[in-house]
Amino acid sequence: GDTVLNADRLHTVFEVKSQHQEKALLRAVNDVSLTISEGDVLGVVGESGCGKSTLGRTILRLEEKAAGDVLYRGTDIFSLHHKEMKQYRKKMQMIFQDPSSSLNPRKKVISLLKQPYKIHKTGSDAEIQERVESLMQEVGLNPRHQRRFPHQFSGGQRQRIGIARALALNPEFIVCDEAVSALDVSVQAQILNLLLDLQQKHKLTYMFISHDLSVVEFISTRIMVMYLGKIVELADKVELMANPLHPYTKTLFAAYPVNDPAKRDQKKRVVMGDVPSPINPPSGCHFHPRCPYKMPICEEKYPEITEAAPGHQVACHLFNK
Ligand code: SF4
Ligand code: MG
Repeated sequence: GDTVLNADRLHTVFEVKSQHQEKALLRAVNDVSLTISEGDVLGVVGESGCGKSTLGRTILRLEEKAAGDVLYRGTDIFSLHHKEMKQYRKKMQMIFQDPSSSLNPRKKVISLLKQPYKIHKTGSDAEIQERVESLMQEVGLNPRHQRRFPHQFSGGQRQRIGIARALALNPEFIVCDEAVSALDVSVQAQILNLLLDLQQKHKLTYMFISHDLSVVEFISTRIMVMYLGKIVELADKVELMANPLHPYTKTLFAAYPVNDPAKRDQKKRVVMGDVPSPINPPSGCHFHPRCPYKMPICEEKYPEITEAAPGHQVACHLFNK
């Protein structure tokens, strides 16, 4: 399909205090380039702290400290003025892990869902009311419950409210950040299926961030693996699952019995030690202290990302020829 989003050399760096109260730089997103095409579900996986959420926020221009370029259907959104950006905000939405924290507990569902229309000043009251009721129906909520408060819904229903709100302004691109991670496994499946149905119906494109590889495998068309702020591998889902190349990807896959959802609760932790701090990442390839294939060059030089097979990118010296 057409390119929806083209991110080029994104860097998002935060100034933080180190253990000894010295100023230090945290490179949350470190030189990331990627393209997302219409109808894609780009899954983003990696352990917590690897920069997945910051990347999602950076792409939506929600991070002030971001550098690089994001072209949204060819328009450089980082250089837009506030007013122009507002138009793009409608097209690009985000769904979060914990809808309770993004839904004001003192507001009824009806007013939570009317909010996006009020902010963007679209439609008469009657039109908005009608639209909100059909939105509720679309995400599997009973419009008769519109006067209820968020706490009167289950976790899965609250996530449906979050999805309805993200859909309100007819977006094209949605970043889902751990959108089902707080839910029971059976509810997760319902929400993932809802997201896929809505994708078909509205021709949506998703970036789907999750630490849970089985969820990402279920919903994605392409998968990107991140480690300490960088892309280490990116390929079509089928290719990546069948032929993981990067030693980190192999480690992640080995730790998750992804093909058997019944075994999901037995997932083992990565046994190769903790993730190093992104504040002071290891020299050369950031994965070298944990890598069983480490070579002398790995400690000295960061491996360029290269195409190891058509459409299959990997950043590892084993594949740099
Ligand atoms: Fe391992 Fe070296 Fe590849 Fe890094 S570059 S993943 S250390 S083999
Ligand atoms: Mg996160």
